[in-house]
Amino acid sequence: MTKLAFIGAGNMNGAIISGLVNKGFSPKNIIVANPSAPKREALSQQCSVLNTHSNIEAVDFADYIILGVKPYLIAQVCADISSNTSIANKCFVSVAAGCTIEQIQQALNSKQPVIRVMPNTPSQLGFGVSGLFASDEVNDEQKQQTSELMESVGIIKWLNSEAGIDHITAVSGSAPAYFFLFMEAMQNKAIEYGFTEQESRALVQQTALGAAQMVINNDMPISQLRQNVTSKGGTTQAALTTLIEGGLEQLVTDAMDSAVKRAQEMA
Ligand code: NAP
Repeated sequence: MTKLAFIGAGNMNGAIISGLVNKGFSPKNIIVANPSAPKREALSQQCSVLNTHSNIEAVDFADYIILGVKPYLIAQVCADISSNTSIANKCFVSVAAGCTIEQIQQALNSKQPVIRVMPNTPSQLGFGVSGLFASDEVNDEQKQQTSELMESVGIIKWLNSEAGIDHITAVSGSAPAYFFLFMEAMQNKAIEYGFTEQESRALVQQTALGAAQMVINNDMPISQLRQNVTSKGGTTQAALTTLIEGGLEQLVTDAMDSAVKRAQEMA
């Protein structure tokens, strides 16, 4: 049976562990390592997984090592692991933004199989999107296992090049916040119209959910859905004209390019 070691008991690793256990993966085969106790013990209790303060102990237990620490800690954590235990036959899966496969292999001092994953925050609810890219050393079974790992928290997309990780960062990794900003602006205006904060939130969130469901439940292009709800000379058209003439589409594409550029700079 495959054994998994999660290095870091934070948000992203916590989301993946919950997803796996909810889908029936045996918690006995999962260990989570975090030097400080509170988060690791809470996660261990919540999901009935094993836990340890020692990254080395976790690595020794598992075939797959999921690196879920902040990007600036990845090199140090990998170097510490490789100098203190054997990493032969272990596959490393990194969710850290901006850390390349080459950097991880260098820190491990070994050409280990490494898979980079770019998840997003809705993974915490099982509605995530993850982009994946594998180093040449990764075999088919390791790809399959990692697909199953990330499918436990949402949909996945294997990428043809590592540069694709930067692109999917702009399309889905950073993107929940774009929608939050749009919803925030709408909520603030609804409050100005006299709705309470709670009412405004309910109106905006249900509208966003409804719009997403309409996209999910229809095969037609999104542009067609928009046209279908836009009567000539009506209120929706008035609003959309303001958005379009204000440059919304250009702003969105510029924002996505900024995310790609930042991801490239971080690597
Ligand atoms: P987080 O909640 O801060 O989790 C990081 C965890 O690592 C914390 O529990 C921290 O423990 C622990 N840690 C610190 N030093 C460690 C060490 N030496 N060994 C083992 N564990 C250690 O961060 P996160 O949001 O889950 O992000 C984790 C990674 O996921 C990042 O690299 C990020 O780029 C990537 N990611 C996150 C998201 C997201 O939506 N959250 C999306 C895409 C990618 P203490 O708190 O006790 O220090």
